Amino acid sequence: MFLSRQLARRVYSRSHRRWAHSPVAALSGLNTVTEEDLAHFSKILPSSAILSTLTPSATPPAELEPFNNDWMNKYHGRSTTVLKPRTTQEVSEIVKWCNQRRIGIVPQGGNTGLVGGSVPVRDELILSLANMSKIRSFDDVSGILVADAGCILQSLSDFLVSHHHIVPLDLGAKGSCQIGGNVSTNAGGLRLLRYGSLHGTVLGLEVVLPDGTILDQLTSLRKDNTGYDLKQLFIGAEGTLGVVTGVSILAAPAPQASNNVMLALPKFENVLPLFKETKRQLSEILSAFEFMDRTVYDLAVKHGQGRALDPADVEGADCFVLVETSGGKREHDEEKLNSLLESLMEADEPLINTGVLATSPAQFSALWAIREGLTEAVSKEGKAYKYDISVPLHKFKEVVDRTKEQLRQKGLLHDDAVKHVVGYGHVGDGNLHLNVVAAAYTPEIEAALEPFVYELVASYKGSISAEHGIGVMKTHALQYSKSPTSIEWMKKIKALFDPNGIMNPGKVLP
Ligand SMILES: Cc1cc2nc3c(=O)[nH]c(=O)nc-3n(C[C@H](O)[C@H](O)[C@H](O)COP(=O)(O)OP(=O)(O)OC[C@H]3O[C@@H](n4cnc5c(N)ncnc54)[C@H](O)[C@@H]3O)c2cc1C
Repeated sequence: MFLSRQLARRVYSRSHRRWAHSPVAALSGLNTVTEEDLAHFSKILPSSAILSTLTPSATPPAELEPFNNDWMNKYHGRSTTVLKPRTTQEVSEIVKWCNQRRIGIVPQGGNTGLVGGSVPVRDELILSLANMSKIRSFDDVSGILVADAGCILQSLSDFLVSHHHIVPLDLGAKGSCQIGGNVSTNAGGLRLLRYGSLHGTVLGLEVVLPDGTILDQLTSLRKDNTGYDLKQLFIGAEGTLGVVTGVSILAAPAPQASNNVMLALPKFENVLPLFKETKRQLSEILSAFEFMDRTVYDLAVKHGQGRALDPADVEGADCFVLVETSGGKREHDEEKLNSLLESLMEADEPLINTGVLATSPAQFSALWAIREGLTEAVSKEGKAYKYDISVPLHKFKEVVDRTKEQLRQKGLLHDDAVKHVVGYGHVGDGNLHLNVVAAAYTPEIEAALEPFVYELVASYKGSISAEHGIGVMKTHALQYSKSPTSIEWMKKIKALFDPNGIMNPGKVLP
């Protein structure tokens, strides 16, 4: 059932100029959707919730494309059918049928995942959560929000504004990604430094298991020590153990005051001392510390993400750090931030060249727009090989430099092959996004990068996936971050929940 290393080789189709994992082995033993299956689904769902190229009144294939192609346009499925249930009961009935019929299911949220986990490897059925977008309840005393899995992250944020709370999670894809997708990828994002991971803030989940059983663990308790905490298994499971249909999450009180400042640094070596000094001085009000190297900043500007800083503010800058504070009293927070900036500028050997402090909500958003726009800027510049890794902070630059060197040695560092190697990420969490921006996805570039990058990460005892997950992209590399014993137990857990292997086949496990 599980993809062997050999069979997990990638195939390159010259006609399509696309990379894809060999799907056949991954899906052996699974059936494709037939017209009889559709007849059954039409007893569960209205016709408007069924998109299929198989129906008599067939959906035009173009309508299925957004579901079959991932955000990077790197991974491509060939599903004939997308179902959009509205209730947990409908999800349960669909999953139960697919389990009986051995039909592979890909749960899909906002399809913003960056590891190819949200699209089929072949023609599995796509179960879109888009129609499950109701907020079920919010308690403004405890801050506990219970919502359908298909709620878009931005809509939850907007809802919470009038309740003076925020979602403890924020990321550049918030306008499209769904809370169920966030939970299923254990997304980290921009607020993790302050509010911790979803393993802490998710209080309960409702999950449809692969046999259709509804596991209702939608508790709204802060404390519940009654045996195994099953929900943790689904956080970061990438849809391989069940379909998340409801989420209970602890929202945080909205900060009374938020400030941000973009710091320009003369050299990377200053990032760590700056982080230490910033933590020391800002302590409880520090809410983000985001790093970007000069090349990726320039790409953001080139592709219109946020407003460019004044040329004088970026002159001589090797990299940038965006610092955000969130606190309870504006004057207090501003005083702390100003005194940090003064001490940084007035030091005998200043750690920064300049600091651009936002003085209005518009400027605050404009500075964040640069950071949040980096992923998009990279994808506009070319085809991105994305490595989302955890390594010790002082190794960030070394990883970028050694990757560049590797590509140079292979003769691939030029405009027709690899245009840029950039680094940015959540320094506060030890998470670097190493992005290799190429003119096209090619076997030569991939061979130069893998397993090179994974071996490099392993040599630093890092993680090959800090927050994006494994998806289909890194199944063959799981061994670099997980021991054989861990992988064995992961397989046993998968087999226990999903003995027929219908849930997101070909993803996560090698
Ligand atoms: C511009 C941009 C910025 C990003 N920034 C960050 C960032 O800062 N931090 C970060 O961690 N990620 C980031 N990402 C990656 C991505 O947005 C996250 O992984 C996000 O959590 C995915 O949510 P989604 O709803 O789009 O899920 P999808 O992409 O649809 O799915 C992702 C995975 O979860 C599974 N899944 C989705 N919904 C469910 C469900 N209801 N039940 C079971 N399984 C499900 C899918 O099968 C798939 O394996 C970014 C992506 C983009 C495009």
